[in-house]
Amino acid sequence: MSSFSGNPLPATVLGYPRIGRNRAMKKAIEAYWRGELSAANLQRTVVDERRAVFETLQSAGLTDVPCNDFSLYDQVLDTLVMVGAVPPRHRDLGLNALDTYFAMARGTAEVPPLEMTKWFDTNYHYLVPELAPDTEFTLDLSKPLQEYRQARSLGLEARPVLLGPLTFLHLAKVAPGVAADFDPLTLLERLLPVYEQALAQFAAEGVHWVQLDEPVLVSEQAQAELVLRRLGSLPERPKLLIATYFGSVREALPILRQAPVEAVALDLTGPAESNLRDLAGAGGLPGKRLVAGVIDGRNVWAADLRAQLARLASLHGLADEIVIAPSCSLLHVPLDVSLETGLDPDVRCWFAFARQKLDEVAVLARGISAGPQAIEAELQRNQEILAHRAASPITRDPAVRERVAAVTPADEHRAVSYPQRARQQAERLNLPSLPTTTIGSFPQTQALRAARGRFRRGELGPDGYAERMRTEVEHVIRLQETLGLDVLVHGEPERNDMVQYFAEQLTGFVATQHGWVQSYGTRYVRPPVVIGDVSRPQPMTVEWTSFAQSLTDKPVKGMLTGPVTMLCWSFVRDDQPLEETAQQVALALRDEVADLEAAGTAVIQVDEPALREGLPLRASDRPGYLRWATAAFRLATSGVRDNTQIHTHMCYAEFGEILSAVIDLDTDVISLEGARSHMSIAADLSAAGYPSGVGPGVYDIHSPRVPGRDEVTRMLRQALEHVPAERLWVNPDCGLKTRDEAEVKSSLANLVAAAESLR
Ligand code: GLN
Ligand code: ZN
Repeated sequence: MSSFSGNPLPATVLGYPRIGRNRAMKKAIEAYWRGELSAANLQRTVVDERRAVFETLQSAGLTDVPCNDFSLYDQVLDTLVMVGAVPPRHRDLGLNALDTYFAMARGTAEVPPLEMTKWFDTNYHYLVPELAPDTEFTLDLSKPLQEYRQARSLGLEARPVLLGPLTFLHLAKVAPGVAADFDPLTLLERLLPVYEQALAQFAAEGVHWVQLDEPVLVSEQAQAELVLRRLGSLPERPKLLIATYFGSVREALPILRQAPVEAVALDLTGPAESNLRDLAGAGGLPGKRLVAGVIDGRNVWAADLRAQLARLASLHGLADEIVIAPSCSLLHVPLDVSLETGLDPDVRCWFAFARQKLDEVAVLARGISAGPQAIEAELQRNQEILAHRAASPITRDPAVRERVAAVTPADEHRAVSYPQRARQQAERLNLPSLPTTTIGSFPQTQALRAARGRFRRGELGPDGYAERMRTEVEHVIRLQETLGLDVLVHGEPERNDMVQYFAEQLTGFVATQHGWVQSYGTRYVRPPVVIGDVSRPQPMTVEWTSFAQSLTDKPVKGMLTGPVTMLCWSFVRDDQPLEETAQQVALALRDEVADLEAAGTAVIQVDEPALREGLPLRASDRPGYLRWATAAFRLATSGVRDNTQIHTHMCYAEFGEILSAVIDLDTDVISLEGARSHMSIAADLSAAGYPSGVGPGVYDIHSPRVPGRDEVTRMLRQALEHVPAERLWVNPDCGLKTRDEAEVKSSLANLVAAAESLR
């Protein structure tokens, strides 16, 4: 087994991206779904790509490596399979193991898939296990063992990663048809024996270490002591690493400290740095190994190695042994920045993607075990890069900074309150009661995407491309006129993605070529990166909106993506508070709003679907976030005249604790999901004293089903019980880009007819 100067390098990672080289995994899995690749060949790709990961880890000098972090779809789904909790509807399909797995992930013609939801506060989505009082668990350790054996065949003693029992139960939901007050946590006593068996089997196999991921400990401690005591006191078991991440463990620290386990991983980055203080205050982790998550596993910046080294030195004496690691699995960052040949090399060196983070932990580990002088050259080079970044004019634009410094509270508020604005807007817009509109996008047809592809490859010139898009805009405008909608949209045909489209036009953002990050299953996104001060060199949407407006007498809505969503779906700067970046983006959008208004646009929608997902995990961090997030939105939208109508859109109906923040946005109209939750949002908003216009979506655009006129009428009647007619808008749940034109035509025709029947 390879090692560093006799001893293994005290460095590891908690997990690694599983996209494969050149997106091999995504391609193979999708080919299997299409029936173009056999299961055996899919398995061959899995083995090849997993080997490539092990070899990458090895070549970075790491011998302490994870396994079972690879996945065909999702690690929570893998855990569900490991504990035998396949829902009856999927089990009853009678498919083989692989197809049952994909049936749970994607559904089949007969049965729906598992629900999907966000993995903590990341943009990764996991499949939600469904549990019932009669759920039984049985162990299937084949996948972890397969990965472990493969690593061993390569000379690596790997550490199987399992999602821990607490996190598994916390992330689960109540199975359909089971009383909602059933608490999955009550299944703990039934689940624990399965984990006990797993540990015993691993021990029999000769496994040295097992990693149990329990990120839920950051916010939940119930039963933690029991679980760790039970698993820790097994007579025959591998050593246990309890991995926590996405924040500081606070209340769980004493539990982890006392637990009969050999190692604990703590996030020591960003706000979770408080773990360090708490650790020192509590007297450390005596007798244990601390896996110190000093490298940010969720962002793309090269670390300050000297600062991390100093931080690691401060950990001295707080644990028996320190192992250096990223703060969480590297799943959340792209694979390798050296692939980014399109980036200016002077900027590229500012970044560390997954592959580069391996080098960072390895260098720090050498610095710790052999002394800083052993890594002097690397430290030197790192300091140069950081100094270069800090001094770069890209990162600091004095004009932007002056503008942010000059922002006053008045800039963040509309001049007059909603009732006065509403009167002036009504006069200007002259809309019927129950006005109808859509959320922005119209079907992104294959032909449109093909045109964008030809444009990107240079086969279609900019003029030809613009002409093609104008034809589409005209088509969409005529369609809406024929349907009789009241407030029209241009349809967003020119937008590849609601964030990327703006990022490409704003100074301070860069796009990557290969920076794919798993969103869910085989779906990967390429978030833009905010590298410097953000400004808007020129109008971004005015031409499209004005062109659309020139075709019709009905008002056309301008359509922008809000500051919070821009940041939530990008990699953000680590050298200034997010709040400041949000203000910069807000000012850039404020300029766009002003230009739209000046061009005659009377209605402007600023989408913030990510407002809720940006909410910090810890309740105590939430008020601060909501304060700056809502202020940024208002900064972007408050510069308009009283008679310009500001809309926003969000894609969900359960606002819970952000309800008052939604009111704080002070928009004239908000559109949101309504259909799937039977308009409960209308009731919630009115109960909370929401004063302005609201369009609870009257049909679910996620489904190809066309809603009938009566169904829409019923929805509207429900909404009218809570929202007065003069404030109710009529619209679908979300944008229409994933639907086809026939569906859209019939659905919107019924929507308009329903609104008319109630006027
Ligand atoms: N305006 C966007 C659209 O219609 C909104 C998308 C979203 O809410 N995610 O596509
Ligand atoms: Zn939406």
